[in-house]
Amino acid sequence: MLNTGTLIENRAYLLLENAIAHEFRSKIALVSSFGTESAVLLHMVAQIDAHLPILFLDTGKIFPDTIAYRDGLINRLRLSNVRTVRPDQKHLNSYDPAGRLYTADPDLCCALRKTMPLDAALEPFDAWISGRKRNQSETRRDILPRETGPNGMTVINPLYDWNKADIARYFAENALPPHPLEASGFTSLGCFSCTSRIRAGDDPRAGRWAGSGKTECGIFLPRLAMADETGGTQADRTEAPNTMRA
Ligand code: SF4
Repeated sequence: MLNTGTLIENRAYLLLENAIAHEFRSKIALVSSFGTESAVLLHMVAQIDAHLPILFLDTGKIFPDTIAYRDGLINRLRLSNVRTVRPDQKHLNSYDPAGRLYTADPDLCCALRKTMPLDAALEPFDAWISGRKRNQSETRRDILPRETGPNGMTVINPLYDWNKADIARYFAENALPPHPLEASGFTSLGCFSCTSRIRAGDDPRAGRWAGSGKTECGIFLPRLAMADETGGTQADRTEAPNTMRA
């Protein structure tokens, strides 16, 4: 990859390689939504270490197109350690039995379905890799290549300064497949219940919780205090890694 990519690509790759192969060797994971821009980091990771743990949050409300796209990228990039993380069913039974908590209290819904399962799945690691970028929204304008997250872990943001053209160029250079929903106006994909198409000129994340004032799921915000009344463990909720499908 080095000597063939652009400066911004090589810088991102070196940051990623140093974190995965040296500084946090065996103690780092990539968190990926398998969304519209995720293939860039997944492609870089595949070149550095195709067995790196990759955590995918299946909230129970993920577009079926995203699941299919995930499986296609796993095969194409020969990723051998993608772990699907799910919410605690006992939590859902207690707090969201009808599956409509997102209408009444989306912050609590995100805590149950995203933040708590992810925090637990990240416990074995010292650091994680995120695909966040400054151009995604006003609230992300100051992202740095390396940060400390709200849960105290180091977060590496290799694509912090990439823009839409950088992403498009990388997809084209590496013949990466687009997410199937991108062509119909979805630029940032989360749960189907809280994601809508954007209008021309909107920030890429404008379709997330549109019109509600909510801009982040909470993974990068201070944690809601919430007692675990269920006694469940994350080991019950994280699927075994996939075996590589050639
Ligand atoms: S994005 Fe919506 S449905 Fe998904 S966890 Fe957050 S509030 Fe719940």
